Amino acid sequence: MEKTKFTALECVNSNDYKDDFYESNNKMFCIACKTTVNYAKKSVIDNHLNSTSHKSKKRLIGASSRNITKQEINIALVKAFAEADIPLEKVNKLQTFFKEYCIEGKLI
Ligand SMILES: [Zn+2]
Repeated sequence: MEKTKFTALECVNSNDYKDDFYESNNKMFCIACKTTVNYAKKSVIDNHLNSTSHKSKKRLIGASSRNITKQEINIALVKAFAEADIPLEKVNKLQTFFKEYCIEGKLI
């Protein structure tokens, strides 16, 4: 079984984990779950990141941390379509996608 030979801080600062964890008192905390994660074994960290519980909490945080208004999204969407030369009428064909993946369709 592979083991990390890093401190919690080194582990948190690694590219694989810097987005999901922070270090305090040489302990590694998951930002989304607000729990400590044993950093001695890479597999434990990876299992935590792949857990359903972690993923759902991370999704909730991602949704609430960005305070974007519906108008801002609509403007960005129109701009993206214009830049890609896609007629705006096509946006209706993407409604199913938006409703499923964009916070239950509440933003668009
Ligand atoms: Zn977590």
